[in-house]
Amino acid sequence: SHPVRVSAQLHPYGEGRLLLLSRDITALEQADAMRRDFVANVSHEIRTPLTVLAGFVETLQTLPLPDGERLRYLGLMAQQATRMHHLVQDLLTLSRLEGSPLPDMHEWTAVAPLLARCEQEARALSQALHGDTGAVAQQIVFPAAEVLRSAGQLAGSPGELHSALANLINNAVRYTPAGGRIEVQWQPLAGGGARLAVIDSGPGIAPEHLPRITERFYRVDRSRSRDTGGTGLGLAIVKHVLQRHGAQLAISSVLGRGSVFAVEFSPGGVRAQPVLPLL
Ligand code: ADP
Repeated sequence: SHPVRVSAQLHPYGEGRLLLLSRDITALEQADAMRRDFVANVSHEIRTPLTVLAGFVETLQTLPLPDGERLRYLGLMAQQATRMHHLVQDLLTLSRLEGSPLPDMHEWTAVAPLLARCEQEARALSQALHGDTGAVAQQIVFPAAEVLRSAGQLAGSPGELHSALANLINNAVRYTPAGGRIEVQWQPLAGGGARLAVIDSGPGIAPEHLPRITERFYRVDRSRSRDTGGTGLGLAIVKHVLQRHGAQLAISSVLGRGSVFAVEFSPGGVRAQPVLPLL
């Protein structure tokens, strides 16, 4: 797909002859540039909280602060440590995804408890972000019980699937302001397969950002991402997991109105679950 560039070397080859050795170096150079970018990004992401932490340590060491102030500083330091912890966790998740064999598609996870867990986590996150600010709570809506009862099962790694769906749902909670609405829909598709949509009434994403939104460390608004505990790796993890499971991610968004992150599971990735008769 790209114009081929070659590195060529001339080697003496027998009497009066030269051998031309060539290979395509574009792909190699690209991979190398990406690796360099990634290392630079990771270093930056680690350096920032470290600088903040070191600053607080110095303040505590040099200024005699009243107890209340000291505790406030320690709280802020704990926040930075947590941030670095999340960053390292996400980095490990990504590197595991890259290094491990494809998920076993003979392993099945029931959708209902998976979404129940996501719902619990989303409500806890919403509470943590808005609960004690006195702001109007977010409205969080999950599929009705009867939809979930017939939702069936997903093929693949339960842990990976949870991390992908939870990332999308938690992003909706994190980026939607207080008083907003987050809805998760589950829809079986006509030819088999299913669609899970995470719909929010948040800030939306401008069209020029959409193509890059799943890249590592790509953020539309750096400070908003940080304030809500973002590492900039969430959607990269989501994309990777879904790819490994043969599922597609479709994002549509209207600036100022909200976003829809939709996951389409292929027919092979979903199986119906016999509805147990109520005794
Ligand atoms: P982060 O940790 O920064 O949230 P992600 O990879 O999860 O990293 O998301 C990348 C960027 O995409 C975010 O920084 C944010 O700008 C944007 N984004 C993701 N989800 C949403 C959403 N539901 N609404 C608006 N913007 C979003």
